[in-house]
Amino acid sequence: MPNLVLLGIQGSGKGTQANLLSKHYGFDHLNVGSLLRKEMENRTAIGDQIRDYMLRGDLVPDEHIFSIIEPILTEDADKLVLDGFPRTINQAEYLEGKIPVEYAIYFELGDKVAKKRLSSRRVCQNCQANYNLLLNSYLREERCKKCGQLLERRGDDNQLAINRRIDAFHKQTKPVISFFEQRDRLLRVDAQKKPKIIHEELVSKLNL
Ligand code: ADP
Ligand code: ZN
Repeated sequence: MPNLVLLGIQGSGKGTQANLLSKHYGFDHLNVGSLLRKEMENRTAIGDQIRDYMLRGDLVPDEHIFSIIEPILTEDADKLVLDGFPRTINQAEYLEGKIPVEYAIYFELGDKVAKKRLSSRRVCQNCQANYNLLLNSYLREERCKKCGQLLERRGDDNQLAINRRIDAFHKQTKPVISFFEQRDRLLRVDAQKKPKIIHEELVSKLNL
């Protein structure tokens, strides 16, 4: 029952790798941040309660996270790429009680590079594709290469929220890395490398 957990500072490229891994292995990509954003867009009861946390760049309280992912983490949940969960020790313990984790992959990147990547990130308003203006210098018009829509900055990719999110990573999510290390499940990768290289390295290291 191989389930994967992806961990890393904001901007470390775990979303990109989650996409590549889920395609490669035919796994389901569970992106918790994007599920939360959908709740906000649809103005659900949860959406309205989490909005302020999300915009500030603070972690959403566990009760909301658990109510969103509980239906997904069923007894026979299998072949999941968990992107953005767990982010606290409490969440890690909750997960441990639900499904087994084969590998937790930690994308290592320093704060400085992470901040630079986040402030130059743009997202397509139509298909949610992510771009980095630093890597894609030809994106002068800031339009999506896939669907032509205008690209925008994510609401929480502003200086204040970026700093709070990175702070939450160090204070609340770093212990989760030790959690998986103690269970001998941790695989570290250098997130400075190019996405394609990282993907190939992962496929060669993961025994799936
Ligand atoms: P990033 O990791 O770059 O901050 P995400 O899209 O993964 O972006 O998450 C956006 C926001 O959603 C987070 O800042 C946080 O408010 C909330 N969030 C996502 N995952 C969790 C989680 N597991 N626990 C609590 N809050 C979360
Ligand atoms: Zn698009």
